[in-house]
Amino acid sequence: MERASLSAPEEAGEEALRAIIEEILALPSAGPLLPRDLDRVLRGHPKEGRGFYSKREILRAFRREPARYAASEEEFAERLRTCPTRSQSGVLPVTVLTKPFPCPGRCVFCPDDVRMPKSYLSDEPGCQRAEANQFDPYRQAWSRLLAYREMGHRTDKVELIVLGGTWSSYPERYQRWFVARLFEALNDFGAGRDARAEAAAEHGEESAADGRAGWARVEAAQRANEEAGARCVGLALETRPDHVDDAEVLRLRRLGATKVQLGLQSLDDAVLAANQRGHDVECSRQALARLRAAGFKLHAHWMPNLVGATPASDRRDFTRLFADPGLCPDELKVYPCSLLETAPLMRIHADGGWRPYEHEELVELLAACLPEVPAWCRVTRVIRDIPSPDIVAGNRQTNLREVVEARVRAGERALREIRAREIRQERIERRDLTLRVRAYASRTGEERFLEWQTADERIAAFARLTLPSEEPGVPELAGRALLREVHVYGPAAALGERDRTRPQHAGLGADLVSEAARLAAAAGYGHLAVISAVGTRPWYRRLGFEDGPLYQHLPLGS
Ligand code: SF4
Repeated sequence: MERASLSAPEEAGEEALRAIIEEILALPSAGPLLPRDLDRVLRGHPKEGRGFYSKREILRAFRREPARYAASEEEFAERLRTCPTRSQSGVLPVTVLTKPFPCPGRCVFCPDDVRMPKSYLSDEPGCQRAEANQFDPYRQAWSRLLAYREMGHRTDKVELIVLGGTWSSYPERYQRWFVARLFEALNDFGAGRDARAEAAAEHGEESAADGRAGWARVEAAQRANEEAGARCVGLALETRPDHVDDAEVLRLRRLGATKVQLGLQSLDDAVLAANQRGHDVECSRQALARLRAAGFKLHAHWMPNLVGATPASDRRDFTRLFADPGLCPDELKVYPCSLLETAPLMRIHADGGWRPYEHEELVELLAACLPEVPAWCRVTRVIRDIPSPDIVAGNRQTNLREVVEARVRAGERALREIRAREIRQERIERRDLTLRVRAYASRTGEERFLEWQTADERIAAFARLTLPSEEPGVPELAGRALLREVHVYGPAAALGERDRTRPQHAGLGADLVSEAARLAAAAGYGHLAVISAVGTRPWYRRLGFEDGPLYQHLPLGS
């Protein structure tokens, strides 16, 4: 193999990297490595006086001489992918931030960093990445995908998560431009084209760029993404309940959103008022009902330890989340309130109007709450990842979730929520799974949670079906049952890959859709509508769905 000549230390490094690659390939098991195995290999070949080689360096060394090894680059990257937290759900999350922009909210706990969109702090890791990319959506998404690929992750199925203040309060032309640029980044990345330099130039003339971002540009980028190498299989936007009206629901959908993150924060009007949230609980119910009736996945935020709350009142508040049919979110982030330097809460704290819960109070509260989360809800977070130096008072323990879950287990209680039951990297056989349907009521109608589960109730795939009881605000959905989500677990697999021991490729998703269609037909609906992500539209077409203006529809026949 011809290579540029290397210096003696480089040659020694190259030899060490080759040895690392050979040893990794010689390890017995298939699939991703166990972190301890990789650790052992790396420790056997330290860099001279400079720690250990990174996965990125190892993968680059493989790419320099691919013909030398008895594995393809794809197989090797798969082995190297020890990190279970990024693509274990089959989809790669790419989080981007909007530009700094004022928020219409006046929440007393919310920090104010002029360099960031409202509520974000400039030393949070995601914020630093956004700032380094000048908040340009194209550069943020492209660079993140590149970093993932260099770590050995597959990048063909991407969930885009847009964070920053209240999305719905940004000018519509900015929203269109931002989302069009995200899809364009995915399309270019998948095609091996890097237009980050041009993106920076366009970002420099943002007002002109905004002017050019009509709906036609958004829709063209979305159409191109349907067959792109990096497809958007989910788009999440975040907003406030009092900004969700029928027009906003349609706009979110037109942008391609499939999930909405909504700050509920409390389910007690007195607590909402004391924290100057600017809306009441009924407003949260109405926003959730509008979004659910339009098929969105609902990701709620709830905050214990707000002004006016106590551990006992928070315990009651949490029960309302799932006992009130007007709430019942699909996913939940729990953010215990912390005192941050730039938040108005500083003054309230100084005047004795708020105190942070003691560590033990917080652990006990959360350990009492989490077992109450139903089997159809996923708890995505138990703390917000705020850098410790920014926290004046409040929880600083970054592994609080582990501590809380250990407390739950010590009390011999079980967690039923989805995240505690996901099969993660495990390979499973189809014959070991059974399909279970759980029913519950929402303000919109009847909900059905369909899940493929193992004998011990671990979850391999699920779908969310809504059987609405009222006419929806979106005319296209009149009289239709709604498929709000289909999710299959397992390591992110390449589009088109076949492996019957991986749930993504054992037909579990298609079977969930057929079962949802059967349930909808049995309930008297003539059509099943799905809120498909742009990159999943071809898959639904193959299952018989027809394109509508904003959704896809399956005629249920007789
Ligand atoms: S709505 Fe959200 S971003 Fe706006 S002030 Fe309240 S917490 Fe902060």
